[in-house]
Amino acid sequence: MRAQPTASHYIGGRYVESEAGEPFPSIYPATGEAIATLRSADDAIIAAAIASAVEGQKIWAAKAPSERASVLRRAARMLRERNHELSVLETLDTGKPLQETLVADAASGAECLDYFGALASSLTGEYIDLGGSFAYTRREPLGVCAGIGAWNYPIQIAAWKAAPALACGNAMVFKPSEITPLSALKLAEILTEAGLPDGVFNVIQGFGDVGAKLVTHPSIAKVSLTGSVPTGTKVAALAGAHLKKTTMELGGKSPLIIFDDADLESAVSAAINANFYSSGQICSNGTRVFVQSGIRDRFLDRLAERTANARLGDPLDEATNIGPLVSLSQYDKVLHYISLGKGEGARLICGGQAAKVPDFQDGLFVEPTVFADVTDDMRIAREEIFGPVMCVLSFESEDDVIPRANDTTFGLAAGVFTRDIQRAHRVIGKLQAGTCWINTYNLTPVEMPFGGNKQSGIGRENGHAAIEHYSQIKSVYVEMGSVEAAF
Ligand code: NDP
Repeated sequence: MRAQPTASHYIGGRYVESEAGEPFPSIYPATGEAIATLRSADDAIIAAAIASAVEGQKIWAAKAPSERASVLRRAARMLRERNHELSVLETLDTGKPLQETLVADAASGAECLDYFGALASSLTGEYIDLGGSFAYTRREPLGVCAGIGAWNYPIQIAAWKAAPALACGNAMVFKPSEITPLSALKLAEILTEAGLPDGVFNVIQGFGDVGAKLVTHPSIAKVSLTGSVPTGTKVAALAGAHLKKTTMELGGKSPLIIFDDADLESAVSAAINANFYSSGQICSNGTRVFVQSGIRDRFLDRLAERTANARLGDPLDEATNIGPLVSLSQYDKVLHYISLGKGEGARLICGGQAAKVPDFQDGLFVEPTVFADVTDDMRIAREEIFGPVMCVLSFESEDDVIPRANDTTFGLAAGVFTRDIQRAHRVIGKLQAGTCWINTYNLTPVEMPFGGNKQSGIGRENGHAAIEHYSQIKSVYVEMGSVEAAF
């Protein structure tokens, strides 16, 4: 496999370039260097990708499910075999440290392809006895789906959308974020090598306008977006105008609630993972950490001690824990929120500024930052920052914390730390969030449905639940007797 994609788009089983599209660079955010120049899809490229998907889908849907299953599982194996080079590419494109990309990106994509490969050959309909006559249901593909990705987990997002879509017999045209355009192309290349018919998975590059053209194209049956709430609102409205099905994986401001009786070290670990992994650029992060007053000071002390041990630096060094933010605009946004937090009167426990990293003067590094004494009305506690900024809020009782945790238009995720098993389940039952954890945070195995309530999303990815969002039921009534009419 070549280390880098050789052209901007992947259509009909091969790389395609078009000089007509607007050029844009892919930047390594640790150094500011351009690692590739790509071109946005023009109308001809968009049309070619969709036409190729329409043809590919007919061939793919006619295959035996077991054949579809073996292609997906072969692709999973190839992703694993090439994990190291794919991880390096993902690190260069996103700035996330290799320590993470080696285990969380292509590896997660492989799990997803394996899981939906296994499900592909076990999808069934229903037999319904009607007393003499009968009915049955067929689970059928939707047709051609559009996938639109965010920049934080590029290959994972592409695989989380492609695997269930393809398992159900659909084709896909995928548009990565223009900030991280490369690894989805490698996924397409691998799927072809694994035996996927040409046209079943296509990748085209571009900005929001290319995404919008996909959404409104009459041949697109369904749109799956991972992105922010404002983009989700626009895309869902566009899709709704054509009554297209949607899956929306959007942003969050999720609560992580730590009760006095929690295992302190585990709770601190979870708060670290929930705020500083991927430099905090994770949709489900537990960015509002509610800590009960009896454990709060010990929690903050340990958090500060352990955060001081974080290694910021060269993302390609496997010992590095924290890399740069993905782009200059994200870097500016995060630093802006940090200064807002200071201005709003939150107490800075650690971090609080851009980080200077030797040999990476132009890198977009920000210190992992913890604010304590955060109150519910502060903007840093209400708005999604999407960077390494943790807000710690205090609470006294279960009755006090639940309405505060729910007081947000988001509803993506939530976590509870307590040794009291009844309280854990009671509190989880009252939290308005689509994905929850008890005594851990941010683990997203493919077996478990993932997605948001309220404005954080529509539909679910992963688990059996995803099948419902990439297939439709056809009911068939079978008459076993004669047909009578009134006249
Ligand atoms: P954006 O919402 O800015 O963009 C998401 C994708 O949509 C990009 O590919 C973007 O293209 C495209 N897009 C933008 N405008 C339109 C439009 N009008 N029509 C169609 N497509 C459009 O999100 P980010 O890439 O900045 O990602 C960060 C956000 O994603 C955060 O809010 C985060 O919480 C959320 N997210 C949610 C996840 C989940 O599973 N719930 C997981 C990961 C992230 P372009 O890049 O050119 O703007």
